[in-house]
Amino acid sequence: MKKFADVILPLPLRQLFTYSLHEDIAENVQIGCRVIVPFGRKKFYTAIVYNIHYCAPEAYETKEITTVLDANPILFPVQFKFWEWISSYYLCTQGDVFKAALPSGLKLESETIIEYNPDFESTSPLSDREQLLLSLLEKKPEQTVSLLEKESGLKNLLPVIKSLLDKEAIFVKEELKRNYQPKMELRTRLNNNVKGEVYLQKLFDDLARAPKQLALLMKYLELSQYLKDVTQLKEVSKKELIRKAEASPAAFNGLVEKKIFEVYRHEIGRLDSSSHTTIDLNPLNENQQQAYLQILDSFKEKNVCLLHGVTSSGKTEVYIHLIEKTIKEGKQVLYLLPEIALTTQITERLKRVFGNRLGIYHSKFSDAERVEIWQKQLSNEGYDIILGVRSSIFLPFQNLGLVIVDEEHENTYKQYDPAPRYHARNAAIVLASFYGAKTLLGTATPSVESYFNATNGKYGLVELNERYKDIELPEILSVDIKELARKKRMSGQFSPVLLAHIREALERKEQVILFQNRRGFAPMIECKTCGWVPRCKNCDVSLTYHKGMNQLTCHYCGYTYQLPRSCPACESVELINRGFGTEKVEDDIKALFPQAKIARMDMDTTRTRTAYEKIIADFEQGKTDILVGTQMVSKGLDFERVSAVGILNADTMLNYPDFRSYERAFQLMAQVSGRAGRKNKRGLVILQTKSIDHPIINQVIHNDYQQMYTAQLAERQMFRYPPYHRLVYVYLKNRNADLLDTMARTMADKLRAIFGSRILGPDNPPVARIQSLFIKKIIVKIENNASMEKARTLLLQVQKEMVEDERFKSLIVYYDVDPY
Ligand code: ADP
Ligand code: ZN
Ligand code: ZN
Repeated sequence: MKKFADVILPLPLRQLFTYSLHEDIAENVQIGCRVIVPFGRKKFYTAIVYNIHYCAPEAYETKEITTVLDANPILFPVQFKFWEWISSYYLCTQGDVFKAALPSGLKLESETIIEYNPDFESTSPLSDREQLLLSLLEKKPEQTVSLLEKESGLKNLLPVIKSLLDKEAIFVKEELKRNYQPKMELRTRLNNNVKGEVYLQKLFDDLARAPKQLALLMKYLELSQYLKDVTQLKEVSKKELIRKAEASPAAFNGLVEKKIFEVYRHEIGRLDSSSHTTIDLNPLNENQQQAYLQILDSFKEKNVCLLHGVTSSGKTEVYIHLIEKTIKEGKQVLYLLPEIALTTQITERLKRVFGNRLGIYHSKFSDAERVEIWQKQLSNEGYDIILGVRSSIFLPFQNLGLVIVDEEHENTYKQYDPAPRYHARNAAIVLASFYGAKTLLGTATPSVESYFNATNGKYGLVELNERYKDIELPEILSVDIKELARKKRMSGQFSPVLLAHIREALERKEQVILFQNRRGFAPMIECKTCGWVPRCKNCDVSLTYHKGMNQLTCHYCGYTYQLPRSCPACESVELINRGFGTEKVEDDIKALFPQAKIARMDMDTTRTRTAYEKIIADFEQGKTDILVGTQMVSKGLDFERVSAVGILNADTMLNYPDFRSYERAFQLMAQVSGRAGRKNKRGLVILQTKSIDHPIINQVIHNDYQQMYTAQLAERQMFRYPPYHRLVYVYLKNRNADLLDTMARTMADKLRAIFGSRILGPDNPPVARIQSLFIKKIIVKIENNASMEKARTLLLQVQKEMVEDERFKSLIVYYDVDPY
């Protein structure tokens, strides 16, 4: 009987597609394996087998699966369940989830861009097809799969591409060049058991007339320390040898042909598997021990526990003990962080204790490395602990026992674009429940939702109110910069008080952090004369300035523009970089303290993994005195010698137009203050603001989370916001502004007929045009205790009615569920 497979395609399709299986491969296919399938007129995609059966679909003639890529599934059944949950909860497709979940190397398609690896050296013969592709790529090192198919005249190249990828002859192109390490290295040694002076002398004589080869031989003897001790030769890399001897590969190959050298492969493994000597855990102090036991206790009854511990109370130490306990029970841990910058420090702390049982997963690793971690997680030697950012919730785990969501209040856990628009904290809680695992949320400043859940008994609640070693929380001085500006006493953005404290700290050889909030702002160019700002021609946004490339790009459509020489509006040549504000702070502070060593941490200075690591390491080691930064410096970093923190301007945070802005302002200020005085003595925070009487400023000064929470909760209830109501934003897009207007009003009317006053809008979102598509937004507010499932069904039903209307066929609809 003919077999069929339903597959998930990496496309925004609401349904699965069915393909038939040729009898040759029918037995090899399992659920969860990747296959290559034709789709559309000419395209091929990597798809995932979701189901295998014997029923031919009625609606369409099936095509055949072209190739089976995996002998074994690359997803566990629970991953399917998780994908399904995400796509139904966040109202997106499984194809959207597929695209977000897998590293590029695991989801090749016709549009994937392939890059040639110039360092590739083959150790086994390549097939004709492989050879042909490589020679095409050698001529033009970056091509899409479909272009390669066209140029080679071969069809369905994906299996060949996969095999070349496995050999590392090619790569999947990534936007950022990352520090790639090869998995294999070619090494070389003398090809003769005969050792000793006589043999060497003979070689020297033989090579007397081949100086390049002789140089290679001499260099080999030096690198291998041959003359020092023949019995303990050091291994020599072929590439390094050729480079150091300044010889050519041809000269080297000559020596191999003469059977003087031989080449062998050495597996070095990209993933750091050196066995670190691990040290014992720090013993917990009394408060921490109590918190640890309370957490375990709460896990007996509840699946989620919130650890509310002041900054520097030792939450991380408590996590480490919980991790130790979990892995001793033979289970795995997923440790989520909101920001790559944070992984550096936490990695070090965890590596010291857990050594190579820890794996790290985030986008600043190369795709090849991420593929390798994925494969390892499928095997029986998966990591005991995965430390990662948002996307690591998609990794496969055999036996997950605990999820830790550190800094759970952080908004970087939310993915805004593209779909799936998920919240990693909330999704992680669901993932954990599928495994029967527990989730620990940790923070000094809980999100209003999590605290609400914890005080209502849905989650457990454990508090840590003392800093480790009982160091007091920092003293917070608020400074009225409105008044000072009026009296003309500000030096740029700095008040006299702030400058005095920076000076004092520097004199005592202590460090300073200066925080400039730039939420929602990217670096921009502005005409100094007329205020003209370059904008994207396809989207309703200003362009982002990339200093390194001296280019302007649109963050929404990716279009790049040359930087104009002069302002097109007034022809002035003074185009200034508005930056994150941090650049200006850095320049000004340099002028004021010329002796101080100053570093800056923001999106511009942290484009690579090593850039992060260097800024943080330099500050840790005291090579930097003052660190200027955006919210990146506010998050969970642990430095010993920071005695003063300056918050340059609290008002941009307070004035952000968003129901959550007060909560966020409190969290940001409390967090950045928490960087001061962590180890030895009480720190000081200078909080500059124009709204000195604002209740939030007062709550920050007194570190009064309760008061902030109570006030916010009352507002949320009154204005129907979370945690009392769930929000769903419905976005509508179309090329034609007038038509979109009609569509949006029609859809809002239909929704109102069902949901009544729960519907707001349509309105224009802050960015009202992207990639030449106009956008409208409708807001749905649903009571917390109402059925979300029913609401989702009704939403999709209205969407269906809309697009079935002849006039509205071109309408694009998408959703953002819990859009905060
Ligand atoms: P949090 O995560 O709550 O901000 P950390 O875990 O980073 O706090 O702890 C703050 C500092 O105090 C860290 O440098 C940490 O190493 C140290 N510390 C906390 N608890 C202990 C402990 N029990 N033993 C040794 N050092 C500790
Ligand atoms: Zn101008
Ligand atoms: Zn654009």
